[in-house]
Amino acid sequence: MSVRERTQVGIVGAGPAGLLLGHLLTQAGIDNVVLEARDRAYVEQRVRAGVLEQPTVDVLRACGVGSRLDLEGLRHTGVELQFDGGRHRLALDELTGGDAITVYGQQEVVKDLIAARTGPLEFSVSDVAVDGFDGDAPTIRYVREDGEAAALACDLIAGCDGFHGITRGAVADAITVFERVYPFAWLGVLAQVAPSSEELIYCRSERGFALHSMRSPEVTRLYLQVPPDETIDGWSDDRIWTELRERLHVRDGSWELQDGPIFDKGVTPMRSFVAEPMRHGRLFLAGDAAHIVPPTGAKGMNLAVHDVVVLARAAEAFLARGDASGLDGYSETCLRRVWRAQHFSWWMTSMFHNPPEQDPFESQLQRSQLHWVTSTRTGGAALAENYVGLPHG
Ligand SMILES: Cc1cc2nc3c(=O)[nH]c(=O)nc-3n(C[C@H](O)[C@H](O)[C@H](O)COP(=O)(O)OP(=O)(O)OC[C@H]3O[C@@H](n4cnc5c(N)ncnc54)[C@H](O)[C@@H]3O)c2cc1C
Repeated sequence: MSVRERTQVGIVGAGPAGLLLGHLLTQAGIDNVVLEARDRAYVEQRVRAGVLEQPTVDVLRACGVGSRLDLEGLRHTGVELQFDGGRHRLALDELTGGDAITVYGQQEVVKDLIAARTGPLEFSVSDVAVDGFDGDAPTIRYVREDGEAAALACDLIAGCDGFHGITRGAVADAITVFERVYPFAWLGVLAQVAPSSEELIYCRSERGFALHSMRSPEVTRLYLQVPPDETIDGWSDDRIWTELRERLHVRDGSWELQDGPIFDKGVTPMRSFVAEPMRHGRLFLAGDAAHIVPPTGAKGMNLAVHDVVVLARAAEAFLARGDASGLDGYSETCLRRVWRAQHFSWWMTSMFHNPPEQDPFESQLQRSQLHWVTSTRTGGAALAENYVGLPHG
C-alpha cells in the first residue's frame, strides 16, 4: 500500500531548476511538491557553478530571493582574456549597454531558494519513477525518507533531476540526443586566499587553458585544462600552483598569483549534450536533465533558470486559465536558447583549449579569434553579449 497524494506540479530534483520552478509556481498560486534524492546539507554544500548572467540575477531579484545575492554577490563589469602572455580586458558593461555578470555560488542560490520555500520539499527520497504522463494522469512514485511508499498524482511533472536523474531515462525512446565529448577535462580547486585579480581571467597558453575565478573576497576558484582521463591523485597542491603560475604568467611580469590552502579539488569531464524535445506529454525536462554545456561559457545554471522561467509561465497559463500554448511552445522556446549557449560554450572552449595533438594551424586560428575579440568592437560585443546573457524572450 502506498500513500496517495495530489498536487498540480510534481517536481523531481531540488537543484537550481527544481527549486526555482517551485518558487515561481508557489508565487503564482500553483500547488507543487519538490522531491529530492539527497539530504538538505548535501544540496546546500554542493559546489558547482558560480557565474550568474544578468537575466538570471534579474529573475532572482524579481521573485524575491535576491537580497543576499545583492549583499554578497560580486558584480563584474569586465573580464580579462589572456593569450601569448598578454592580458586584454573586455568591458562587459560598455559592450552590452550596462549589463554585467555576478559571481555568486550556485550553492548560495540553492540555500536562498530552500530558505524561501513554503510548500512541500521532501529530501532523501528514493526509488523515484514517473508514469502516466502520456495521458492526463501523471504520477510520481517514490519512497520517503522513513521508508513509506508514496504516489503523487499531478497535472504536470517537471524533470529537474540533473544529468544523472531518472526522468530523461523514462522517455529515452522518444528523444534525439546530440552530443560532443571534448578531449580534455577541467581540474578545479577552491583555495582559501583572496583572488589575485578583481575579475575573471580566461587564459590560453601553450601548456593549456587556465581560469582564474573567485567565489568571495576570501576564496579563489581556479581551473586547469587536463587530459580527460586525468585523476586528481597525481596533482599535489604544489604541482597545481606551479602549473597555474606557468600558464597564467604575463610577459611583462606585472602580475603575481597569490596561493593559499586548497580545500577542495576535483576533475570534471567536458561535454555538450542536448536531448530533444524537452516535452513529452505532461512531462517537461528542464536544466541539466535535458542539456549539458562545457563550463567555459558559464551557462549551465543560467540555462536551467531560463527553462524554468518559461515552464512556470506556461504551467500557470495552463493550470489557471486552460491556455496550453505556452506548454506547446516550451521545448522550442528553450531549445533556441540552449543551442545559442551550446554554440557560445563550444566557441569559448575551442578558442582557449589546446587540442591533445598540437596542431599549429589550429593554434593560429585560436590566436586570430582572440585578436578579433580583443581588438574590435564587433568581436568584443559578440563575446560580451553572450557572456552576460542574451535577454530572456
Ligand atoms: C562538477 C560540476 C561543476 C560545474 N561547474 C559549473 C561551472 O563552473 N559553471 C557553470 O555554469 N555550470 C557548472 N556546472 C553546471 C551547473 O552546475 C548545472 O548546469 C546546474 O546544476 C543545473 O541545475 P539543475 O537544477 O538542472 O541540475 P542539478 O543541479 O544537477 O540538480 C538536480 C537535482 O536532482 C536531484 N536528483 C537526481 N536524481 C534524482 C532522483 N531520481 N530523484 C530525486 N532527485 C534527484 C539531484 O540530487 C540534484 O539535487 C557544473 C556541474 C558539475 C556537475
